[in-house]
Amino acid sequence: MPETLDEGGEGRLYVPDFAGWKAAIKHDWNKEYCFVQRPGEEFYHLLVTGEIFLQRGTEKYCLSCALRHGYVTHDRAFWLRRPSSIVEYRPSEPPPE
Ligand SMILES: [Zn+2]
Repeated sequence: MPETLDEGGEGRLYVPDFAGWKAAIKHDWNKEYCFVQRPGEEFYHLLVTGEIFLQRGTEKYCLSCALRHGYVTHDRAFWLRRPSSIVEYRPSEPPPE
């Protein structure tokens, strides 16, 4: 069944530059914190048990920070705008007469 563009897209998350990233669920009860602070806040977000977070190496990000930094997006069409997917159209010049 083909998906329409407006079909529940807002809840889905995509990682445009997915190399090196993984999504995980916090399973343990250790205190772990988001890698970055939100501007204006003077604390790091505590990742709570059961929370879905993104990880790149040892860096862990809560989803709101990952969204704010653009590591994840709700925009399903992100891949259409990747430079690698853009085929440049160069019409060949007409031969001189
Ligand atoms: Zn955070």
